[in-house]
Amino acid sequence: MSGYSPRGEAADSTCNFEVLDKSGSSEIEVCRRCGCVAIHVGPMTMRLDLASFDALTMGMRRAAYLLSQESNASPPERVEVLS
Ligand SMILES: [Zn+2]
Repeated sequence: MSGYSPRGEAADSTCNFEVLDKSGSSEIEVCRRCGCVAIHVGPMTMRLDLASFDALTMGMRRAAYLLSQESNASPPERVEVLS
């Protein structure tokens, strides 16, 4: 717990990433030296400090929960296709 800087300095060239999770086209890595997290999704990479990563994770969980509530509560809205 002592090496982590809460200021979340951007990852530098000394980063040493370790793969935490790999699923489908996404991969999550962490650098134990500076505590930053890299999220690879397809061709995109996002680098976050641990606090931002936590916030993002919580946001995504909430969003996923809300979406699942919506799809359980009522059938999806029908899109009328006019010919
Ligand atoms: Zn690092």
